Amino acid sequence: MNIPCPYCQHPITPGATTCPGCGTSLLREATPQSAEPTCGYHPRRLSLAICDRCGTFACAECLRLNSRQEVVCQRCHALEQDTPLPWDLREELGTFTAWWKTVVAVMFHPDTFPTFRPEGSAGESLLFAVLCAVPTSIVGGLSYMGFLSFVPYLLSSGNPSRDSVPSWLGPAMFVAIMILGPLLSAAYTVIQAGLDHLVLKMGGVTRGFQVTLRANAFSQAPWLLGAVPCIGPYVAPVWGLVARVFAYRGLHRTSWGVALAGCLVTPLLSCCLCGGIYLSLIRTLGGFN
Ligand SMILES: [Zn+2]
Ligand SMILES: [Zn+2]
Ligand SMILES: [Zn+2]
Repeated sequence: MNIPCPYCQHPITPGATTCPGCGTSLLREATPQSAEPTCGYHPRRLSLAICDRCGTFACAECLRLNSRQEVVCQRCHALEQDTPLPWDLREELGTFTAWWKTVVAVMFHPDTFPTFRPEGSAGESLLFAVLCAVPTSIVGGLSYMGFLSFVPYLLSSGNPSRDSVPSWLGPAMFVAIMILGPLLSAAYTVIQAGLDHLVLKMGGVTRGFQVTLRANAFSQAPWLLGAVPCIGPYVAPVWGLVARVFAYRGLHRTSWGVALAGCLVTPLLSCCLCGGIYLSLIRTLGGFN
């Protein structure tokens, strides 16, 4: 977005103090007692534009263009110096290294979320979530395959009919899990982020759905532990939930309370809902007996 020169309408780059079109100085002194808005930082200068972030009137010298191509005041610009997450540097680092470094950052330094860039495309967020689901899918697929190829031997020990479980079923199951696992993870991420976003919006969050989706995807880094036998499946959800509170709070720049509500309201409601359906089902069945 560009600002037009007040004299010749030539577009001005935020931060320039003279117009590139007519060469006039853009630092105009305010006439005392006039109704024209003055700069929030230089009360004696006329304002040239309003900051897209905080709404402060700013003079030519106090305006900047930020990474999102918005015209902002110098104070908002200074506050916005977001560091890119390793995941945003995939081209330099390579996808796997970028993913691994982000996983480590999310798991061990979730307090750094407020310094990270909040925006990112839906596709790259989902790719991150899908990569986090791959190790669990591999372990899950392998254990199914192992189980299914073991079953015929168990059955054949007492009964020589080996055809009870076809030999292709194990590998087929592995392939199916390797395809379905990441797909389900992507679908689950979109649905959960959508529901969480509604709650966050009720809490007064102004940033868009892509920010929630990005935060939700990054908070799945601890799901990597789901591949660790025995303890993994218990540790991963808890760690993931903690990371999500940090992620929602950091990327939405909101309070702990709103972030916590964003993480917990939907899972708790769905638990109550499922529990309710389950209970009423038991009651109905009980009534028939
Ligand atoms: Zn001009
Ligand atoms: Zn100023
Ligand atoms: Zn501002």
